[in-house]
Amino acid sequence: MPIPLLLIAPVPEFLREPLTQQYEMLDYHQAADKEAMLREHGARIRAIVGVGGSVAPPAWLDQLPAVEIISVNGVGYDGMPVDYLRGRGIRLSNTPDVLTEDVADTAVALVLMASRGLIRANRLLHANNWNEGASTLTTKATGKRAGIVGLGRIGKAIARRLAAFDMEIAYHGRHAQPEVPYAYHASVVDLAAWADFLIVATPGGAGTKHLINKEVLEALGTKGSLINIARGSIVDEAALIRALRDGVIKGAGLDVFENEPHVPAELLALDNAVLLPHIGSATIETRSAMAQLVLGNLAAHFAGQPLLTPVV
Ligand code: NAP
Repeated sequence: MPIPLLLIAPVPEFLREPLTQQYEMLDYHQAADKEAMLREHGARIRAIVGVGGSVAPPAWLDQLPAVEIISVNGVGYDGMPVDYLRGRGIRLSNTPDVLTEDVADTAVALVLMASRGLIRANRLLHANNWNEGASTLTTKATGKRAGIVGLGRIGKAIARRLAAFDMEIAYHGRHAQPEVPYAYHASVVDLAAWADFLIVATPGGAGTKHLINKEVLEALGTKGSLINIARGSIVDEAALIRALRDGVIKGAGLDVFENEPHVPAELLALDNAVLLPHIGSATIETRSAMAQLVLGNLAAHFAGQPLLTPVV
């Protein structure tokens, strides 16, 4: 008998197909009547597949007493109640490393698009307005200061790339990392005051909620742009909108938002914000590698072997 598995988020076809072939896959994400699906099958479900942004509150998981593993198709697992999972002995896996380079590429693209006004210029040319696009001067990216908030796997990959743009790199995190060649700022406000680009690459969740707030944005100031490829929850979005609108900061490049897929109309209306629909890791190569890890973690668990990329 195939193992019952609950799919709680959209996944690409190259993950959906093997899940359907190898498991009794119940598509909770697309179910017309989610409660009925849980009533009918909840007691049998042994595995869950979600994505980085998936949220699985304890009260919801209580309805799934047989769950053994949650395999997240993403590196972030801030929507997962880690302590609760530990308490119930539910395993949790994610997909670190394989997406690092793509997300760092996206961050660099946002740095360039924000500083050089590339999206605006592209829009103007599409509107047949060569002259306005060509005559608008922007600011140089090469040689500027990049402050990275969260110098982990992705943060370090961003730093490596920006070093090739002759940028000076500094970082903030909870801990100094003596082995890296970049200056450590114990305060995110100090880092913002120093930086031309403040680039957010920490995990989401309670520990980083609104880490980038009004005070940080004021410290970043008119010289600075905020780049966020991490999680929308880390930035106080209302404060960011005010800072962009009132010219407190220069600009922003965002791949993530506080309440996805909702993007506030005020943000959409701003010319100094470059906005992407959470596509940091969205390449065929990377999403395929992530899918293999999701499947590999599930297979390892049900074969009684150690997980490939365990969180819990
Ligand atoms: P990682 O290797 O765990 O790095 C996270 C870094 O954040 C660490 O250096 C950590 O340093 C720092 N950090 C953690 N909590 C912090 C806090 N409260 N304050 C300041 N710094 C803190 O993770 P990663 O693989 O680089 O991924 C980072 C995040 O990127 C993920 O969690 C995910 O949310 C996001 N992401 C986004 C996309 C996308 O499509 N846009 C794709 C993949 C990942 P310390 O321990 O020293 O604090």
